[in-house]
Amino acid sequence: MAAMRSRRCAPGTVRVDKQRLKVAIQKSGRLTDHSLDLLVRCGLKYSRGKDQLLCFGENMPLDILLVRDDDIPDLVREDVCDLGIVGRNVLEEKRLALRAQGLAAPFIELQSLDYGRCRMVIAVPEDTSYQTAADLNGLRIATTYPQILSQWLITQRISAQVVILSGAVEIAPRLGRAEAICDLVATGNTLSANRLRELETVLHSEAVLIQTPAPLLADKLAWLNRIRLRIDGVQQVKESKYIMLHAPRSALADIRRLLPGSESPTIIPLEGHPERVAVHAVCRENVFWETLESLKAAGASAVLVLPVEKMLA
Ligand code: ATP
Ligand code: ZN
Repeated sequence: MAAMRSRRCAPGTVRVDKQRLKVAIQKSGRLTDHSLDLLVRCGLKYSRGKDQLLCFGENMPLDILLVRDDDIPDLVREDVCDLGIVGRNVLEEKRLALRAQGLAAPFIELQSLDYGRCRMVIAVPEDTSYQTAADLNGLRIATTYPQILSQWLITQRISAQVVILSGAVEIAPRLGRAEAICDLVATGNTLSANRLRELETVLHSEAVLIQTPAPLLADKLAWLNRIRLRIDGVQQVKESKYIMLHAPRSALADIRRLLPGSESPTIIPLEGHPERVAVHAVCRENVFWETLESLKAAGASAVLVLPVEKMLA
């Protein structure tokens, strides 16, 4: 117990235990809750250190380091952390910056995760006449992502000036600092609130799991592989439902066609009803009321739709 406590939180320091996987996630922001929730769904129980910087994994050899998202690529690249979860936008900006310095393949991109979805777009004030990418020629575009924007401008053969800001990009046109902006949007509400409209999409982003380029100890690699399988399971069950219903044998072909995203349903005879069967199926897509109504119209009865909690392929 004393050893556990000392690993948890000596104030102001981060104890590095080389035998344990260290995962960097965003400390406080849009990816924080989803990332912690994903690790918990993978089976992790953790306690938070007093310094709020480190979470100690109680039931897995895995600790979480809570940091600013911009620091995550370097922490993983420099092997301070074995893994990191960060938006593709942050990752891409870093990758391009490193490439400009002649450094390549700095982290291993393991897989996209199912959250943090957003787009990096170029937007212009609503009351302007700019319509196409070519209209951006000669303009000033404000952004906090100069590398991604510059790269996009090159591929589009557009000559525009990149104005680098550290925040509040959406007010740059009103302040007269730029004619257009390049920023992240999810719903587009912030753009409309600032009387801006989208012109072009530069990048689609989501949270991504990355790994250090340094080789992992065998035990850590085994845990990483286990966690990745669990992440796949967590992602698969998100939309999945388990459907149970009764149906006439004669309607089976129609019923199977109606079950969304189901591979091979289990067909079970019903005692005393030779013409009817029970059908059980995992549907990997959402099941809507319309689907249930169609199933009923095809002859199904006693239809039950249950959430799937865990799945291992
Ligand atoms: P930090 O303090 O860690 O530097 P931040 O302010 O840079 O935080 P957040 O605004 O919390 O970052 O966004 C974190 C990530 O969430 C973004 O880099 C992006 O990948 C993702 N994201 C999802 N939706 C949006 C959105 N609507 N606007 C901005 N980022 C979004
Ligand atoms: Zn940031």
